[in-house]
Amino acid sequence: MTNLEPCPKCKGEITLYSYLSLKANYNCYALCQKCKTVYRMPEAKLKAHGARIYPSSIKKAERLWNERAKGESE
Ligand SMILES: [Zn+2]
Repeated sequence: MTNLEPCPKCKGEITLYSYLSLKANYNCYALCQKCKTVYRMPEAKLKAHGARIYPSSIKKAERLWNERAKGESE
């Protein structure tokens, strides 16, 4: 499993969530378990089949989060 970068604000643990909605323009977000900051990730564009998200999309979301968290904490 990929290690996720911690929250850029407080170094808390990050969990990635998918958000399935026809109306929202994003369907993936990262939530810090410590400060409860929500980081929307429209760039992840998770591909889902019904309620199942493709594993390759999850991997991509994890990679995108890590790149972003590194960038924001510098
Ligand atoms: Zn945090």
